[in-house]
Amino acid sequence: MIDVDTARERILAAFAPLGMEHVALDAALGAILAVDVVAGGNVPPFPNAAMDGFAVRAEDTAGATPEHPARLLVVAEAAAGYPCVTEVTAGAAIRIMTGAPIPTGADAVVRFEETDERADAVRRGPGETVAIVREARAGEHLRPAGEDIQAGQIVLLAGARVRPAVIGVLATLNHTQIAVHRRPRVGVLATGDELVDPGKPLGAGQIRNSNAPMIVAMVRRCGGEPVSLGIARDSEDDLRHALSRAEGCDLLLTTGGVSIGDYDLVKRVLQAEGRIDLWNVRIKPGKPLAFGWLGPTPVLGLPGNPVAAAVAFEQFARPAIRKMLGERSLEIPTVMARFTGCIENRGARRNYLRVVVDTGSDGFVARCAGGQGSGILSTLAMSNGLLVIHEDIAVVNEGDLLPVQMLDWGLG
Ligand code: AMP
Ligand code: MG
Repeated sequence: MIDVDTARERILAAFAPLGMEHVALDAALGAILAVDVVAGGNVPPFPNAAMDGFAVRAEDTAGATPEHPARLLVVAEAAAGYPCVTEVTAGAAIRIMTGAPIPTGADAVVRFEETDERADAVRRGPGETVAIVREARAGEHLRPAGEDIQAGQIVLLAGARVRPAVIGVLATLNHTQIAVHRRPRVGVLATGDELVDPGKPLGAGQIRNSNAPMIVAMVRRCGGEPVSLGIARDSEDDLRHALSRAEGCDLLLTTGGVSIGDYDLVKRVLQAEGRIDLWNVRIKPGKPLAFGWLGPTPVLGLPGNPVAAAVAFEQFARPAIRKMLGERSLEIPTVMARFTGCIENRGARRNYLRVVVDTGSDGFVARCAGGQGSGILSTLAMSNGLLVIHEDIAVVNEGDLLPVQMLDWGLG
């Protein structure tokens, strides 16, 4: 049996970032940029007003106070979306709205609040005089061209994850599509004679296939493109047939059939049809785990027990998918949390405990989410983290500080 770190290292060595493809911006969320993004122009493209008010020459407001305001003649109005053709000459002001281009001659914007408009609530339009009650500084309330991004600047680096703000930046730079690493196609195959998909009648001795929909969702949440391959029955023929449907996938995930039971055929068939590189990891839950190859397709045989399948997915499949996506940091975001409770960790396995993490007065606090059997999926559904108990730790005591993988963090 090998430890989690060795297994992970060996599995991840089999994967590399996939090739590049161009996708529309609205399909890019969660993907990883395959190229640096260089700005083709300034953002904002022209100097514009940061506030509603009056565009002025700052020097015309020198010494202005409420008692001795600077009186300027309003010569025009400037709205967002239109160039202003009128210039601001000495003693003049242009009524301006946020986002409107700064007229030639002006070097500051005085907010309405700093004029007599505020006092008498009467709008000062063209031809009227406005009293400025505070000295303006040159550049005040004005956004210069290129304040955000300068033309030619590298704004985003290859390897960056496309988050909503990245999509906003790409849009502002006039991208309608973007080069990202192709998403991996991940086949998901459940195995077991006992399995029935939700919605179909359940016979005696049968159970619902919960792994497949769960794993499909996990693949999707990681940024992969799940390919549902259905259920393979516990016969070598059926399994062989089902495995052949994985052709063209970048990774095949199976669940069940990798233990030592009479009908655990995944391992046997994989061995016959392809190759197995490793089997059995010192992990709890999730010990029976197979990694191998079916021709050119890497295969990760996850355990059948739902929680074991999910935990093994998080530790091995998730980083493999993230690596193919082009992500550089493959660790699950982890916090240190104080454990409330005591627990023994027998068997020298890395133990992943379903916990609920809350913010306490002194940092994060983690408590058991409930039953920890590897078939008790409801407590995984109720938890938001996996507390990691290293194989060298035999006992965890109340208040011990331990790492918790925050399963919902860092995806999408
Ligand atoms: P196995 O490794 O195939 O012996 O499966 C271990 C346990 O997980 C058994 O109790 C199976 O019934 C259960 N199991 C296997 N596959 C699934 C699945 N797709 N959904 C729910 N439970 C499963
Ligand atoms: Mg089975």
